Amino acid sequence: MYQVLYRKYRPQSFDDVIGQGSITQILKTQVVTGKLSHAYLFTGSRGTGKTTCSKILAKAVNCLNPIDGNPCNCCSACRSIDSGACMDVLEIDAASNNGVDNVRSLREDAIYAPAEVKKRVYIIDEVHMLSISAFNALLKIIEEPPAHLMFILATTELHKVPATILSHCQRFSFRRIDPEDVAARLHFVAYEEGIDLSDEAANLLGRLADGALRDGLSLLDQCAAAAQGQIGAETVYRTLGIAGARIAAQLLRAVAQQDAKQVLTLFTAQYAQGKDISALVDELVRLCRDLLLLKTAPQTGAAMLTGICTDAELQELLPYFTAAELLRHTCLLQETASGFNRSANRRVDVELCLLRMCDPALDLDAQAISARLSRVETVLASGVLPAAQSPAVEGEAPAQTPAQTPAQTPAQTPAQSPEEPEREPPVSQRVTTEELPVSFWTDLADAVRRWRPSLGGYINTGSEKMIVPVLRGEQLDLVAIDAFILEIVDHEDVRAFIAQQAAALLRRPVRVRFTLRDPQKDKTDPIQKLRDNLVKFPDLAHIQE
Ligand SMILES: [Zn+2]
Repeated sequence: MYQVLYRKYRPQSFDDVIGQGSITQILKTQVVTGKLSHAYLFTGSRGTGKTTCSKILAKAVNCLNPIDGNPCNCCSACRSIDSGACMDVLEIDAASNNGVDNVRSLREDAIYAPAEVKKRVYIIDEVHMLSISAFNALLKIIEEPPAHLMFILATTELHKVPATILSHCQRFSFRRIDPEDVAARLHFVAYEEGIDLSDEAANLLGRLADGALRDGLSLLDQCAAAAQGQIGAETVYRTLGIAGARIAAQLLRAVAQQDAKQVLTLFTAQYAQGKDISALVDELVRLCRDLLLLKTAPQTGAAMLTGICTDAELQELLPYFTAAELLRHTCLLQETASGFNRSANRRVDVELCLLRMCDPALDLDAQAISARLSRVETVLASGVLPAAQSPAVEGEAPAQTPAQTPAQTPAQTPAQSPEEPEREPPVSQRVTTEELPVSFWTDLADAVRRWRPSLGGYINTGSEKMIVPVLRGEQLDLVAIDAFILEIVDHEDVRAFIAQQAAALLRRPVRVRFTLRDPQKDKTDPIQKLRDNLVKFPDLAHIQE
């Protein structure tokens, strides 16, 4: 019969226990010196070795030939306990035996000296599940235990254990096992079992185990059953149904590029394939969290990763985001996930969330603004300003600018250019006239009129403009229809005022220059031009003389 790996490789001595060195050292010393407590409380999250250590301790105190505090695993006592036949070492699962009657019968049995071995040991798992009256009954024995009795209580929820019990126990806190330790153990087990496990897959499983070696071994079991040949990262993803991790990475990359179309296409494809939406959102949250960790604590963060993506994938995504952006994405995703229960249409929820992630300009809360600001700061710090763009697309683009790391540009530019060619060329290369926003000239004319009413008639709006604005990159040319008008408007202070107003309207620096529409035609002396104009008014013709 096949024995699952976590049972087969359950540690048989304190020295085999992974990742709980300080605890096993103390227990070994107590066994050697005989200074044992009559009640122990093992706390810690699941799969960290509490039950394993309980059994080892039960064997060690009863072993006929203990070796340096470890049970020998050979003597009659060890073998009897291992097989579960020993009537004096009892494992009780409080989750299913939580009543006061169970504890009372335990109390009645407890007074008798052990029949086979030195100490009668009660291992009570999930002790926090006991009822209050059962706890009170237990307390009575623990307060005044017979010398032949030992209790080992184990719990994942320390806060549910009454203080009166806690004060009578020696407490040990089992910590989550480091991903590297889990990975190393998985390598060992894989070697013993003849399983071909890649380093990448072992590291991935180590992280996915989330500090529980038992979970890590169960995951390895699952992968080994499904795999043919080597277990690589791909096998792990596929077997454990987190194939979406890749999709999550792709989605996030599209979000970074603010490519809403690509984001929705990817999401719709997943939806159509029947992917669980909340699982997808969860994967995105974990990915954002991992990236945020690496961003804020590059050294120590590595040990805290959830393992949703490989290191290479994370490193590739990292330069796309600032910490503020990742924080915002994480919050948006969690907000969406928490609303699932009362949502009428989860699909729409996620689509809206993804769109908001794509474009922080859609949100006006502090976090969105902080995310946008952080992007601007990053661009400024890089010293390369993004190519100028019209206000209509303002708020986008930072992710595609040359200011970003060189690593991402090759992959990005080809995909981007067909749809958004106007953003690509730098200012200096632009020769075409830009389209000015419709309101630009009316707003500018208003400002000029308020500033200097006498100019209002020249910088006019109607259908026959005296001055026509033409924008080429940073150069705003104000083309006068004739030299007479040019003479009136082309002054230092007017240029400065218009430059300032135009920059505010276009949200970028602008150089202003007045020019003449047709210099060849209008080379006349301004005074002569004035005279020519006066001709148009016959009543004033005498002035010509
Ligand atoms: Zn033994």
